[in-house]
Amino acid sequence: MIKGVIKQHKTAPQSALISKLNPIIRGWSNYYSGVVSMETFSKLDNIIWQMLRAWTISRCGKASYEKLGNYFHKGTVKLSHGKERQESWLFKTKDGLQLWKHNWTQIVRHTLIRPDATLYDGNWTYWATRKGQAIDTPNRVAKLLKKQKGRCSWCGQYFAPSDLVEVDHIIPRNHGGKDEYKNLQLLHRHCHDDKTAFDNANAVSLTMEQSD
Ligand SMILES: [Zn+2]
Repeated sequence: MIKGVIKQHKTAPQSALISKLNPIIRGWSNYYSGVVSMETFSKLDNIIWQMLRAWTISRCGKASYEKLGNYFHKGTVKLSHGKERQESWLFKTKDGLQLWKHNWTQIVRHTLIRPDATLYDGNWTYWATRKGQAIDTPNRVAKLLKKQKGRCSWCGQYFAPSDLVEVDHIIPRNHGGKDEYKNLQLLHRHCHDDKTAFDNANAVSLTMEQSD
């Protein structure tokens, strides 16, 4: 795709080429920031550099450093996390319009959850909103998460963002439990299954005791 755009802009001004490429590069690198490594991004930038160098040479004849210097500049960029980075090349117009680089996008890594780590502190609502769509109202989940300090009441483990979580009635509704906060808890889905089986078994034994 990038190759095609560069080809199409063989005789176009540098600014037109940059304006066309930037959204592609930014979009692509944002989309893949969770999957690929910084090395991949740097490799891509390197490939683009080679293509742009060829683009430049094709328009100003045999490469002279002077001519290339009109298109490529050394410089410093400020990245989204606030740090500055020294760049050995920027594809940049005299007006300061510059080509975006893949490796300016931060790589997002989903960190593994350690059981002793305190999770989601102060971020309950965000998390509940994320998880909440399928299971319950975000507000209710957020409140329960906070109350349980992020742990499942059945197994005692911290909830991980990938876990399926459900709202459980501590005293089941069909055993007379009410739909109110003090009778609610968050459980892993598989823990909820265990607990329901346990509740039912208890109900059976209760019934048997009563019928004795
Ligand atoms: Zn659990």
